Amino acid sequence: MVPLLLTLVLLEAPTLALVCQLLVRQLLPSLLPALLILLDLLALASLFACVYTDPGVLPQSVNNYEWSEELLELPGVNHQVRPDHSYLCVSGWGLGVMHKYCVECHLYRPLRTIHCRVCNHCVERYDHHCPWLGVCIGKYNYRYFLAFLATLNLLMLAVLGCCIAVVVMQAQQGSGVLAYLLEIIVGAAALGFGAALMKLLAYHFELLRSGLTTN
Ligand SMILES: [Zn+2]
Ligand SMILES: [Zn+2]
Repeated sequence: MVPLLLTLVLLEAPTLALVCQLLVRQLLPSLLPALLILLDLLALASLFACVYTDPGVLPQSVNNYEWSEELLELPGVNHQVRPDHSYLCVSGWGLGVMHKYCVECHLYRPLRTIHCRVCNHCVERYDHHCPWLGVCIGKYNYRYFLAFLATLNLLMLAVLGCCIAVVVMQAQQGSGVLAYLLEIIVGAAALGFGAALMKLLAYHFELLRSGLTTN
């Protein structure tokens, strides 16, 4: 919960401070703070959907060396376990797949399933453990993770745009720097954070295009 709370504070504190400043001082048309609030709500909704959706955790087995009986019941499929039980080889229709044994969960992992060392469980189509949200990103919450990155990116762009507009407007009116100090700080943070997010989002879209995961 600590990483999530920290992320929420880092995200919400500057955004809400900016929105309040814009609303109180009426520096920009009220449509712009409303847009910031809308994007913020969308980012929060995708963040909570990502955090509270099961990423694809496999229940730990109570029996040793478990595998999916469904898979082995398919006609023409054979299986062979290595003498040290470290791998289960499933072969059939000219293909062979090795399933690694997870000593923590006591089961043979399905393909693209990886054991998360932080959470201590196996996750289907595991992408990574997100330290900012404190959860694994896997088969079922990856889409929400991408939605969170995308909406956060849009929010950072909107925040940056509003900050630039206020700074330019106030500078033209001859106001001192103190009058738009908040916008300078929040705008600089949005620029740095937004650039990093943009890179991360582009990387994940490239992985999606190639059918890969971070691992
Ligand atoms: Zn495991
Ligand atoms: Zn994890």
